[in-house]
Amino acid sequence: MNILITGGAGFLGSHLCRRLLAEKHRVICVDNFITGSEHNIKDLLNKKKFTLIRHDITKPLYLDQKLDWVMHFASPASPVDYRKHPIKTIKVGTLGTHTCLGIAMAKHARFFLASTSEVYGDPAISPQPEEYWGHVNPIGERSCYDEAKRAAEAMAFAYKREHGVDVHVVRIFNTFGPCMRFNDGRVVSNFIYQALTNQPLTVYGKGSYTRSFCYVDDLVEGIVRFMKADYPGPLNLGTTYEFTVLELAKKIIALTGSRSKIEYLPAQADDPRQRRPDLTKARKLLRWQPRVSFEQGLKKTISWFKKEIDSRTIRTIPVA
Ligand code: NAD
Ligand code: UDP
Repeated sequence: MNILITGGAGFLGSHLCRRLLAEKHRVICVDNFITGSEHNIKDLLNKKKFTLIRHDITKPLYLDQKLDWVMHFASPASPVDYRKHPIKTIKVGTLGTHTCLGIAMAKHARFFLASTSEVYGDPAISPQPEEYWGHVNPIGERSCYDEAKRAAEAMAFAYKREHGVDVHVVRIFNTFGPCMRFNDGRVVSNFIYQALTNQPLTVYGKGSYTRSFCYVDDLVEGIVRFMKADYPGPLNLGTTYEFTVLELAKKIIALTGSRSKIEYLPAQADDPRQRRPDLTKARKLLRWQPRVSFEQGLKKTISWFKKEIDSRTIRTIPVA
């Protein structure tokens, strides 16, 4: 197949490019590098079946070749990144999704949207099933991301209803692994980098809010299976192993053997207090479930961060 991946130089996109190339597909990666990096795809640049197009997907894009899948991953995804680029985040979620749906329609391709657990906002119920409509502050600091993704989902289903586009919408819960930026501001990358450089681990508020973290290989497996299934979604993907941010900090200090202490910083506005997916649908539909334990995933990620830190000349990057 010929597969277009927007945001292919980002954390998740680069893993997916590698996975689909391994399955012998042709991959066209579109990225403007606002939060991604060529470093993530440097091993792919000389591959015959890989093409990189530097382009802002909020602007029209015309491609000659036939396309089978259009997979829209482009968007700042870390709260620090989208708070820094709120307008670009809304634009890529809305205009960027519009461009991708237009391409998918023109090419009769299957469309994929990387949506997010953030569509549930600060959830009033736990775990969150796909039927839950969410609890989102429409004008808060996270709204540029949450509401853009909600609009993106609405647009995908409007194209399905009005034009019959074959859409596939996944709601991704917190995912981690190699190729995260050291200073992207997300909790796992922040804590691992801080622990490995013996800086204090920055816990916001009391560290009592919860998340559940999925290792990237499991998520990519779920996405690939979902793309081959005949179901539009929305579908939750993630893990159900839920714990607090403080527990995470302590685990990372223990696994890295770090001398770091914990530093408590003010709580973030509109930070969801809990998050855990109901995975009943994904398990049934895809016969899928996460295989990598949280500890195994952390060990793999820590060892990647260690190697990267050692190979870079600038040894202390301030954490965002
Ligand atoms: P990332 O920031 O590492 O990757 C996003 C990529 O999109 C970057 O390479 C960036 O340069 C590119 N991009 C952004 N705006 C663009 C534009 N206008 N045109 C072209 N390229 C653009 O983030 P990620 O963690 O890999 O997330 C990828 C997608 O998955 C996002 O859509 C995000 O909302 C979704 N998601 C991720 C998670 C997670 O835990 N990683 C959770 C939920 C949803
Ligand atoms: N967090 C933290 N310290 C950090 C980064 C994040 O305490 O250095 C907390 C954040 O407030 C949230 C959780 O960790 O409660 C997950 O944050 P992240 O930015 O990784 O993703 P989110 O799930 O909020 O999108």
